[in-house]
Amino acid sequence: MTPKQILMDSDLCLYLEAVSLRELPLQKALREETQKRPDAMMQITAVQGQFMHLLVKLMGARRILEIGVFTGYSALAMALAMPEDGKLIACDINPNFTAIALRYFESQGILHKIDLRLAPALETLHALIVDGLEDQFDLCFIDADKIHYGDYYEQALRLIRPGGVILIDNLLWGGKVNDPSWVDQETEALRQMNQRLLKDERIDYSLLPMADGLGMARKR
Ligand code: SAM
Ligand code: CA
Repeated sequence: MTPKQILMDSDLCLYLEAVSLRELPLQKALREETQKRPDAMMQITAVQGQFMHLLVKLMGARRILEIGVFTGYSALAMALAMPEDGKLIACDINPNFTAIALRYFESQGILHKIDLRLAPALETLHALIVDGLEDQFDLCFIDADKIHYGDYYEQALRLIRPGGVILIDNLLWGGKVNDPSWVDQETEALRQMNQRLLKDERIDYSLLPMADGLGMARKR
């Protein structure tokens, strides 16, 4: 019997890219530059970036929050889909990573859409709440340190407008969340996040088996 959820092997991933990916030369260049780094696995996949790009367009999102920028692939994919007056607040703590991101934002002519905040994301999100920006954002992408996911989610839920969306990355965590032999802090934080999202009545919810598991929560 054909399984309802197919297993993706590398060949099928390549086929998926071949028949769906529409990447700009600069996006490809950023991906290739990042792939040479030892920490390259932190970057989202191109297919996921394209999905997020489409989502931004579907929602007509103009105010976006990103928690975890790295070399900028996800921010670039989303910012390219925003109108000229759109703003993406990009949170990270590592200026070496974000220097690469800024270089690509500038080359692609989207730097004016990016507001980079180099500080622990919890501080940035708290400052946005203090500044009265609750219910002001259309979309938030959570992809920073996993042990703070619960806190990022709660703050994002305050900052997102009703009907807005929070994307939560890596919820399947390479399968570790479903393997009790993994007892590290990150895996446990993601298991708790999954249980919390399942039961949270403040959102409509789906966990997409895309890339490493992408949670999609719509604020009610
Ligand atoms: N979304 C990125 C992409 O598509 O390439 C990948 C993000 S990477 C998985 C996680 C990022 O979170 C790193 O760039 C790291 O510096 C950042 N980070 C870690 N702890 C953080 C914190 N407390 N506040 C803000 N950013 C943090
Ligand atoms: Ca990720």
